[in-house]
Order: sequence, then structure tokens, then C-alpha cells
Amino acid sequence: MTKINRLSIHGFKSFAHKTDVMFDGKFNCILGPNGSGKSNVSDAICFVLGRLSAKSMRAEKAANLIFNGGKKKSPSDKGTVEIAFCNKANIFPKEEKEIVLSRTITKKGSSIYKINGKKHTRGEVLDLMATARINPEGYNIILQGDI
Ligand code: ATP
Ligand code: MG
Repeated sequence: MTKINRLSIHGFKSFAHKTDVMFDGKFNCILGPNGSGKSNVSDAICFVLGRLSAKSMRAEKAANLIFNGGKKKSPSDKGTVEIAFCNKANIFPKEEKEIVLSRTITKKGSSIYKINGKKHTRGEVLDLMATARINPEGYNIILQGDI
């Protein structure tokens, strides 16, 4: 099984400031009152893994995934989600012991993907994730309303 070390969300959905969510190797649970952003965390996971449909991440269009300023703050000009996978067991065919995947979305709605800091195409990201049997549309990701 692939272990997530960390998820960082910055300027995406309700996360104005960079927010790090640390995971341990067992069972992790995110709790909070209604509207506090729990589902935005699962949207962030789908987003960084390369999901295309904005609507499936509960946004009209891709640019609406960027933090919109809410009531008081100014909107972000881009949104970034980063996910760090443990690669100590070499689940990914790479030498690095941690695989850091990031995706940034711009106001124009275009996406920039990086693997360990280097730009890659979405196709390359999906190919790498597939080596660990990770897929942004995977049936192991069960979102609110899916059942
Ligand atoms: P529930 O328990 O009702 O399922 P939740 O914790 O899953 O709630 P979310 O749906 O993740 O909550 O978060 C909803 C909040 O995120 C709303 O307040 C909404 O305004 C905010 N939000 C969504 N998209 C954006 C955005 N682009 N910019 C700023 N805030 C956003
Ligand atoms: Mg929810």
C-alpha cells in the first residue's frame, strides 16, 4: 500500500493560507463542523492526482477551484495542492524516497504539474501514479454523495 506523508493545500477552495495535513500510515480521519472544508480536502486529493472534471470537485469551472476570497479576504491568483507519498518501499519506480506531486491551477484554468519539483505533463503524472495503482477516478475514492 502507498502511504501519504503529507497533503499541502494553498489557495485552493477554502484554504487561503498554506495548510499542511499530516498523515500517519494507519487510519486518518478529518473532523469538523458543517462547511469547515472537510470535503474540500478530498477534492484537493482528487485535484492533485489529475482529476479533470471541475464539477466532480464541486466547482462550476476549473478556475473556481481557486480560493475566491470568501467574505473578507482577497482572492488568490492561483491554487496549489501538493501530495507527498512515501517511497521507502519503492512502490514508485524512482530512486527518491519521497515522491512529491503538485498541481497548480491558474485563473485562466490551466494546470501545471510537477513531480519532485520538475514540470511534467498530466499524462506523465498519471503514468507514474498508475505504477502505484493510483487513479484520480479510482473507485477507492468515495466522495460525499457517491453512495
Ligand atoms: P459538510 O459537513 O457540510 O459536508 P464540509 O466540511 O465537507 O461540510 P466543504 O464542502 O468542504 O465543507 O466546504 C464548504 C465551504 O468551502 C463553504 O463555506 C464554501 O464557501 C467554501 N468554498 C468552496 N469553494 C471555495 C472557493 N473557491 N473559495 C473559497 N471558499 C470556498
Ligand atoms: Mg462535506
